[in-house]
Amino acid sequence: MQTRTKGIVLSETPYGETSKILNILTSDYGLIGVISKGSRNIKNKLRGVSNKMNYCEYTINYKENALSTLIEGNIINSFKNIYVDMKMAMYSFFIMDLIYQTLKENNNKDLFNILESSLSKINDGLSPELISIIVELKLLKYLGVTLNLDSCTNCGNKDNIITIDVNQGGLICKECYHDGYIMDSRALHLIMMLNKVDLLKISKLEITDDKVYKDIDDFIYEYYNNYTGIYLKKKDRIFI
Ligand SMILES: [Zn+2]
Repeated sequence: MQTRTKGIVLSETPYGETSKILNILTSDYGLIGVISKGSRNIKNKLRGVSNKMNYCEYTINYKENALSTLIEGNIINSFKNIYVDMKMAMYSFFIMDLIYQTLKENNNKDLFNILESSLSKINDGLSPELISIIVELKLLKYLGVTLNLDSCTNCGNKDNIITIDVNQGGLICKECYHDGYIMDSRALHLIMMLNKVDLLKISKLEITDDKVYKDIDDFIYEYYNNYTGIYLKKKDRIFI
């Protein structure tokens, strides 16, 4: 069936002499495997739309449960700022990898909107570190292990929240706290705020305190490693 859909290329693998197999996250079909015939030839019309992070409207000969075939593509956003900034690129690849791993557990087409809006916001200059955290928090829902960041996980109290607990999966109030880690209150407020953010609506986002960011990043890293079954790259190793 010939169809048109918006999509972003998450991975590319050489195939045969001149072709590629692409994994494209599409707005209509979720993640699909597509052969892009001849796209490694310099003069091939598919060459410019068959690379990782290309965001295009694709015309595809779509086959359910089999490899589809790419017919043509028109670029929607080339994310040109990301391509020329090492840090933006590294965080964007981090997000693409994380979404790809999540799709293997849950091939949900909602993830297209998360990917598209996060790359657009990084391209627009919003903090790639904080955008990555927002994406990590949003993906937990699709991995079946949402954090409770609205009220105390133990008693439901919305007041007197003093920390967050990896093993209880969310916030802890003063009454329910016994011992252990206490998150810095600024970090606690920021993670609660980031959890509620609508990626499409934010226009300004920057890190004002590295320590606050690191507290949140360390917490999410630990939570992912303990509860999602997904291997999360440690961000301070992204640049190696
Ligand atoms: Zn409580």
